[in-house]
Amino acid sequence: MIKVNTANIGPDGMEVSGTEEPGFLELDTTEGIPVSVRGPVRYDLRAVMVGEDLLVTGSAFAELVTKCSLCLKEVVRQIGSGKICIHKEKVPEEIVDLTEDVREDILLSVPSRFKCSDDCKGLCPGCGADLNSERCSCKKKKTKKPEKDDHTWDALNKLKF
Ligand SMILES: [Zn+2]
Ligand SMILES: [Zn+2]
Repeated sequence: MIKVNTANIGPDGMEVSGTEEPGFLELDTTEGIPVSVRGPVRYDLRAVMVGEDLLVTGSAFAELVTKCSLCLKEVVRQIGSGKICIHKEKVPEEIVDLTEDVREDILLSVPSRFKCSDDCKGLCPGCGADLNSERCSCKKKKTKKPEKDDHTWDALNKLKF
């Protein structure tokens, strides 16, 4: 839980930093591809009071392990935001829970798909070969196929006549 006690916020604001368990993000898939958060979720925030409003700014990051959506190779990416900005109007009680807001800001930064690189060639839809590292013969087979079909049609035409 990320909480601040507004009674402790001085005129210069207050540091709110620490870590949360990986489970904090409640993130286990993006578009059906499994992801896991590796290591703690780090946050480094600053809370200030503006009149009766609470303003929290700063950053929060975590490391995500997932798979390239094209070739399924393992991908490790940092997720999070360096521009967290939480504004709570007229905070009613002293203890304010920021957990949901920080979680949301991090989750908003997570793309729905990850790629190992911008020019990933992906897997061959025919044989599943990783086209980044191997060549497969599916293309050759494709060009041969129409010839076979032509022969079949020839044979059928001959039967008709
Ligand atoms: Zn890839
Ligand atoms: Zn292939």
